[in-house]
Amino acid sequence: MYLVGLTGGIGSGKSTAAQRFAAHGCAVLDIDGVAREVVQPGEPALEELVARFGRDILLADGSLDRPKLAEVVFHDDDARLDLERITHPRVAARVAERIQSLVQSQEVPGAQLIVVDHPLLVETGQAVRFEAVVVVEADIESRVRRLVESRGMPEEDVRARLRIQSSDEERRAVATHVIDNNGDLASLYTQVDEVHADLLTRARATSAD
Ligand code: ADP
Repeated sequence: MYLVGLTGGIGSGKSTAAQRFAAHGCAVLDIDGVAREVVQPGEPALEELVARFGRDILLADGSLDRPKLAEVVFHDDDARLDLERITHPRVAARVAERIQSLVQSQEVPGAQLIVVDHPLLVETGQAVRFEAVVVVEADIESRVRRLVESRGMPEEDVRARLRIQSSDEERRAVATHVIDNNGDLASLYTQVDEVHADLLTRARATSAD
């Protein structure tokens, strides 16, 4: 197996690229999904979050009110660091488990490439864990426009999230492949196809060593 990290700023087109890798038969691990799992009711991370932020961050059914917590941490750096301290190690541990079980199962066709779709790969210093790092880039203004249009996110929220993420330059510094997503979807797919072909060549070369 060949472990590929896929990252990019919010709205860069990272998830769209991940879907294209999946269409090629890659196993794709969605870190956003894992991040949601570790704060489900009954998980120790949710209890720690309540101890830190109070019961106000819970909905009536006891699940996490994500928009409410997001509002707190996007305006308070100490709160954000505490949130990260509570959740990041648990997300990392669970991702490691998933990778391990994918490697052991070997049941996904084409799973010699495992693509880890990780919004904060650079921010959490994890680039070194991957054999290749693919970065999807797009201009800030196109990203804001796509997110406001497609997810209905208020523009101010999008900009607040953008401010705490790494810059494209920081991501580029650890990238083995850079995808420019300022064009249309066809251009994004063509680039993913090319990167996928190159990664397969690298993976085969590595396994032949
Ligand atoms: P990310 O996962 O990086 O936050 P997404 O892949 O979800 O970003 O893309 C954000 C939105 O922009 C989605 O609605 C997606 O369909 C759209 N999008 C992505 N790339 C393009 C593109 N090249 N042209 C037009 N829309 C795009």
